Formats: sequence, C-alpha cells, structure tokens
Amino acid sequence: MFVKPEPHHVEKREVARLHRAKRKDFREEIWLRDNGRCRACRYLLSLAGAHVHELQPRSLGGSALASRNCITLCAACHNRVHRHTLRITGNPNRQIRLYETNSANGHTRMRKNF
Ligand SMILES: [Zn+2]
Ligand SMILES: [Zn+2]
Repeated sequence: MFVKPEPHHVEKREVARLHRAKRKDFREEIWLRDNGRCRACRYLLSLAGAHVHELQPRSLGGSALASRNCITLCAACHNRVHRHTLRITGNPNRQIRLYETNSANGHTRMRKNF
C-alpha cells in the first residue's frame, strides 16, 4: 500500500536541500573573495578543487557560514594546517598572518597575506 509522505518529512527534506544550496553558495563566495586561489601558496584552484577551511572549528564555536572564519586553501596547504605545520590567524576578509614551520629545522616564520 502506498504511504503518502507526511508533510513534516517533506518539509525536513526541503530544509536540508536549502541548507546544501546555501552551503554551496557560501563556498563560491569564499572562493571568489580569495580570487580562486589558495591563500597560503597562491595556487589557482577550481571551485570544485578548493578546500574551504574554518579558522575556528565549529566545535570551538566558529561559524561555518561566516566569511571572516573561512578561507580558501589547496589540499596540500589544508593538510599542513591540520598537521600544525601551518597556522593561520587574522580575518580572511582583510589580512591574515601565516606561520610556517620548516620541517627540516623546526623554525617558524611569519608571513603576511592580504
Ligand atoms: Zn596552497
Ligand atoms: Zn580545515
């Protein structure tokens, strides 16, 4: 027997769809702001290939949909951030600072990025 989906379920699905669409637009917004490049190494990225990293993770109260908390990175630099050999601070809408640790000697140097 055919069971008509309850309106409640339809609504939930619609909310999920809208949420995905919003998330997709937001990715594009960040990628455009960063001129389609990794903010750490300047590598040119397609929208599909871009990683959007949250400076302050959601688990620590950061917003996944606030442009000041999100930054475009390439896969390699994103990896370095999560391995803590690259640290990023500041507001990506303005200026950020990159702290790069040289894996050979363990020294960290700071670089500004507009
Ligand atoms: Zn990069
Ligand atoms: Zn990340």
